[in-house]
Formats: sequence, structure tokens, C-alpha cells
Amino acid sequence: MPIYEFECKKCGKKFERLIFPSDDKNPECPECNHEYVQKLMSAGSKVTLKVPGGYGGGATPPSCTPVG
Ligand SMILES: [Zn+2]
Repeated sequence: MPIYEFECKKCGKKFERLIFPSDDKNPECPECNHEYVQKLMSAGSKVTLKVPGGYGGGATPPSCTPVG
């Protein structure tokens, strides 16, 4: 979902808004209804890169040891 985080440059209010590609206009601040808001980043893609069954906590991954 295209959810973006915005910050009002007037009152500093941060809010999230659904923005569609057809929506080319910045939303207004829900606090002071000001249009001077800045898009911060996509809040919908807050995914930390994590390897399933990965190595965490100082464990060293197995290196390619030449066998044979
Ligand atoms: Zn505001």
C-alpha cells in the first residue's frame, strides 16, 4: 500500500497518508490544514532486511572452504 509519511513544515506534525500514483498533490496537514508538508518516506515499506535463518549475534557464516 502506498502509504507515505509527511511532516508539516508549519507545525511539525507528522502524519501518514495514502498516496496514489494519480495523486500528484501533497496532502494537507490534519493539524493546521497547511499545505506546506514534506514527504518523508514510505512508511509502508518499513521492512528490515532479514535473512531467514541468518546469522546474527556474531556468528560467522560458513565460508567456502576448498574441499578436496
Ligand atoms: Zn501543520
